[in-house]
Amino acid sequence: MIAFNLERINKELPSGVKLVAVSKFHPFEAILEAYNEGQRAFGENRPQEFAAKAVQLPQDIEWHFIGHLQTNKLKLVLPYAYLVESIDTLHLLEAVNNWGEKNGKVISVLLEVHIGAEETKQGFTPSEVKAVLQMTGEFPYVRFRGLMGMASHTDDEDAVAADFAGIKSLFDECRGLFPTLDGFDQLSIGMSDDWPIAVRHGSTEVRIGTAIFGNREY
Ligand SMILES: *Cc1c(COP(=O)(O)O)cnc(C)c1O
Repeated sequence: MIAFNLERINKELPSGVKLVAVSKFHPFEAILEAYNEGQRAFGENRPQEFAAKAVQLPQDIEWHFIGHLQTNKLKLVLPYAYLVESIDTLHLLEAVNNWGEKNGKVISVLLEVHIGAEETKQGFTPSEVKAVLQMTGEFPYVRFRGLMGMASHTDDEDAVAADFAGIKSLFDECRGLFPTLDGFDQLSIGMSDDWPIAVRHGSTEVRIGTAIFGNREY
């Protein structure tokens, strides 16, 4: 089933849009099944689980951290992270930069944007995003790669499209305002239920869990 799902999604996904397979709550075997189909980018949202999988699974996996990150959990995540997609406070950003300095690693991040969706209280507002990007010089151990966001959790496709259009226009605005920001080119939008809409709104990366691995057991 995993192989079938991956093939179907990959067939529809435009080339140039990266698929991150969100494997949270799923066992190692499920990840290996996807890996054996050629999938290399995986996303996890809990630090302990992230670290355990990163240590024990094949070392050429590209691990994306997509969950809420507390500063006392950095050592579980940052050594293994290819990209931390869920930077949602200045406090976290400072802690990540300090960890990077101590450990000699530049950490690639996305800023999580709070865009309209009532359910997700996490993330920077659009004006906060611009304020943070104004001060990137203060974070030499952080590489700002772009933005991550979630649309409102609703069946109303127009509302979802409006959310994605909003984050895309913020992304474009930031790229215009900060043209010297090296590598700020990633827009991570789109999940199982809404990724085709996200792709129509300029997504460069989709984070898909359920549509690949099935329902999660909590
Ligand atoms: C769980 C999760 C996803 C994947 O959700 P699905 O609906 O299962 O595709 C994507 N992004 C984030 C931030 C998540 O926590």
